Amino acid sequence: MNMISIVDKYRRPIKDLRISVTDRCNFRCPYCMPAEIFGESYSFLDKATILSFEEIVRLAKIFVSLGVKKICLTGGEPLIRRDLQDLISMLSEIPGIEDLTLTTNGYFLAQKAEALKEAGLHRVTVSLDSIDDEVFQQMNGRGYKIKRVLEGIEKAASVGLSPIKINVVVQKGINDSTIVDMARHFKESGYIVRFIEYMDVGNINGWQLDDVVTARQILDMIHSEMPLQPLDKNHPGEVAERYMYKDGIGEIGIIASVSKPFCRDCSRTRISSDGKFYTCLYAGLGHNLRDLMRSGISDDELRNVISGVWTGRVDRYSEDRNVGLGSTSKKIEMYQIGG
Ligand code: SAM
Ligand code: SF4
Ligand code: SF4
Repeated sequence: MNMISIVDKYRRPIKDLRISVTDRCNFRCPYCMPAEIFGESYSFLDKATILSFEEIVRLAKIFVSLGVKKICLTGGEPLIRRDLQDLISMLSEIPGIEDLTLTTNGYFLAQKAEALKEAGLHRVTVSLDSIDDEVFQQMNGRGYKIKRVLEGIEKAASVGLSPIKINVVVQKGINDSTIVDMARHFKESGYIVRFIEYMDVGNINGWQLDDVVTARQILDMIHSEMPLQPLDKNHPGEVAERYMYKDGIGEIGIIASVSKPFCRDCSRTRISSDGKFYTCLYAGLGHNLRDLMRSGISDDELRNVISGVWTGRVDRYSEDRNVGLGSTSKKIEMYQIGG
């Protein structure tokens, strides 16, 4: 397949693809899958509805031929998709993928890290919202303790799934008082903790602007205890602002998706576990690639469809929201497209 690099209406290339491999999760983080909605009787997608590994790989190859260089597997919780290492091994054989990663809550990481590495995964990002056990137990909605996630992180590091990033979603009044402890705990670990402003993704979490602790506030809290200085971005389109500690030991990232949106450099796209293609985290509608594949479309036709969607893209939800233009209509949920 010819390799080209397509751009959207604002000349943004397509570079990062996030693929959700399941809509299921063993956690019930209230900001993502509140337990009162996702109870015992909640019906998740069945096996026939979600993409098979072959379908995912077919799409990945086409996206790579259009410019994608980085693929991140996500969910739901990706590590609960059976035989995920087989998918990773198939993806790792696609020429042109420079970064093959996975975002996980870390619960099954210790037992799976070795197989993931052997299959060809490059690195992992682990979500861990607090280093305080009580706060963490509340934030994962299931009362799970941190120990198991920390063991997962250590195991991932020991098998070489590095550099390891740790994602912390910051919610006012919930875990903001533990931010500095979190930064301190990992300062000398070599892992990069990234603090993320709580986002208004989806419609079910009851997000309010008041719940957001801004990047500036997060930075000030850490800086006042452990002075920081800014670092350059690794590459255009990198979502995190980078800082290193002035004593030269340790780095953090801050993702200011709400207070300082980065839509103008957004080169990221997403496929839900049921095969819909979303060009923005806040999109209401996805393009159904699964049904096209199952109706017998050729690779060339599929490539034209994907290319047509991206070249027509005008998304800039976060920038619009901040000038009062954000849509309030139905949006895709985080657990369906994986962040
Ligand atoms: N289950 C995996 C995990 O938690 O890492 C992967 C899927 S999860 C949806 C991906 C990331 O989205 C996690 O780091 C999670 O904390 C983040 N996330 C979920 N809802 C969010 C929100 N409303 N604002 C900011 N980040 C959010
Ligand atoms: Fe599960 Fe991740 Fe959502 Fe938490 S953020 S409920 S771990 S999908
Ligand atoms: Fe990209 Fe949409 Fe997020 Fe803007 S709001 S950075 S366009 S995903």
